[in-house]
Amino acid sequence: MPRPSGQSNESSATSILILVGMRGSGKTTVGRQLASSLDVRFIDTDGLVEQRGEKSIATIFRDQGEASFRALERAVVASLTEHDEALIVATGGGVVLEEDNRRDLARLGTVVFLDAPPRVLAQRIHGSGRPSLLKLEPSDEVELLATYRRPLYMEIADFVLDATQPVERIVAQLTALWQNRHHNGASHRTQQPQ
Ligand code: ADP
Ligand code: MG
Repeated sequence: MPRPSGQSNESSATSILILVGMRGSGKTTVGRQLASSLDVRFIDTDGLVEQRGEKSIATIFRDQGEASFRALERAVVASLTEHDEALIVATGGGVVLEEDNRRDLARLGTVVFLDAPPRVLAQRIHGSGRPSLLKLEPSDEVELLATYRRPLYMEIADFVLDATQPVERIVAQLTALWQNRHHNGASHRTQQPQ
């Protein structure tokens, strides 16, 4: 697969961009578009869990419970470390709950947290047909999840982007980030505050 902008392969290990954030923050949408425009392989950990489990995530949750889903997800994240090619990775919202996942993702590449307020996330999730995790009103559930997940996203994030922006804008920001890293071989956490 051609590398973006025809750049030489300085370090494929650093050419992995991982999107984290709450459900509805746009990880899958943004990740897929970014990967397509950069001509880089796209991996969605939720998609891999469904492939490995041979069931939809909703069905895995319903029939086997969250612990089974987390175990499958853990195995998928562990397997990402075997890749030595450029990748864009979209994750599931709860991936950061496992300490081992946080460690692996932080080491794997550049982690970008797509951040949006709970009411925006609740609006996006509403009507998507995705199952409620906690049997609460959508906005209450998102608020509650955000309270304990946000610090975990922040713990591993190299960059935080405003996920309420239009998709094209976020993709453009990530493209700039990707190209910057390719050109400069920048290491983690070197970006100066704006
Ligand atoms: P995630 O993978 O983080 O759960 P998705 O990519 O599945 O999120 O997006 C959830 C929903 O929100 C989809 O309907 C998608 O079209 C919409 N969406 C995602 N990002 C944006 C955005 N930046 N602006 C408006 N809608 C968005
Ligand atoms: Mg997704």
